[in-house]
Amino acid sequence: MKIAHIGEFGLIERISSFCKSSHKEGVVLHIGDDCAALKFNKPLVVVSTDLLIENVHFKRSWITPFQLGFKSLAVSISDIAAMGGTARFFLFSIALPSDYTVEDVSDLYAGAHTLAQKHSIEIIGGDTSASDSNVLFINGTILGEADEIVKRSGAHKGDKIYISGTPGDSSAGLFLLQKYGNQIDLIQGTAQVEKGKDFSNFIPLVNRHLMPEPRFVESCENITSMIDISDGLLQDLGHILDKSNVGATVYLDKIPLSQPLKSMAERFHKDPFQFALTGGEDYELLFTSPESTISGYHCIGEITKEGRTIIDSEGRALSFSEKGGYDHFRTR
Ligand code: ADP
Ligand code: MG
Repeated sequence: MKIAHIGEFGLIERISSFCKSSHKEGVVLHIGDDCAALKFNKPLVVVSTDLLIENVHFKRSWITPFQLGFKSLAVSISDIAAMGGTARFFLFSIALPSDYTVEDVSDLYAGAHTLAQKHSIEIIGGDTSASDSNVLFINGTILGEADEIVKRSGAHKGDKIYISGTPGDSSAGLFLLQKYGNQIDLIQGTAQVEKGKDFSNFIPLVNRHLMPEPRFVESCENITSMIDISDGLLQDLGHILDKSNVGATVYLDKIPLSQPLKSMAERFHKDPFQFALTGGEDYELLFTSPESTISGYHCIGEITKEGRTIIDSEGRALSFSEKGGYDHFRTR
């Protein structure tokens, strides 16, 4: 159905029926007025906002509206998790191209709502506009709360560096989408891309790119600094090092690689560590702690006084400044 058929206010009405859920704790006033009114339980409110722009951050032909709605909330939850906070409320604004249908908008919100329900987050508003260009714009703003926050700036010499899961999967998935985007059947979970070439085993990589699940740490008690990996492991580690005024040594052998990433890299004659070190959008958490082991997380190196070193599998020390991750403003 065309949006013109029900108009902006008809659309907002549909959207708001989607947003309301059974756990409205803290929502004093919901969608429908000039503002929402909220109550928080903890002393600190943590806020973050993210833009997702068609053809810059995603291609509409590769990602379904449901996945896009899911992802836009996932990346926001990840920011709150990286501060050691709890996500509570989400504002979701959209500027719609003329060919976007009421069903597309419904699917977009269904995707966001599915993840919101899972994490007890309430979608409490947003803004709706037509997009003058033929481009879909999405803005997600998340509000969370915390007793204390974990900053990027708290890493100390001697701390260990931990990661919550396998990096590189998302960028490997993006590589496959760029190569075979239109031939991958995301709904069926198959990728019969050419005669005799079935890449269905690599679908988890594509899913990781399109529907990242946010990660969490159980307790922030002994965590000295934290960031979520959106730009690439090395680049995001670099942000911790810059803010904390320290260096790091990372051991290549200790970086966990997923089985799909290993077999995909082998199949395409790629270095899996290139994806793992520089690929963006994994939304794994990267943090430092004086603890020598933390169960459930992988220790990949340690904080040093200065320098940025990777020890490769042959024990050679490489400087990692030249391997920086994805940077929007750098010419490539
Ligand atoms: P205003 O003119 O003050 O911007 P709107 O008519 O745009 O008001 O919005 C009315 C209500 O609908 C507000 O509560 C707003 O948060 C909500 N709303 C508008 N667009 C969206 C959207 N895309 N998603 C969620 N809520 C929305
Ligand atoms: Mg408005």
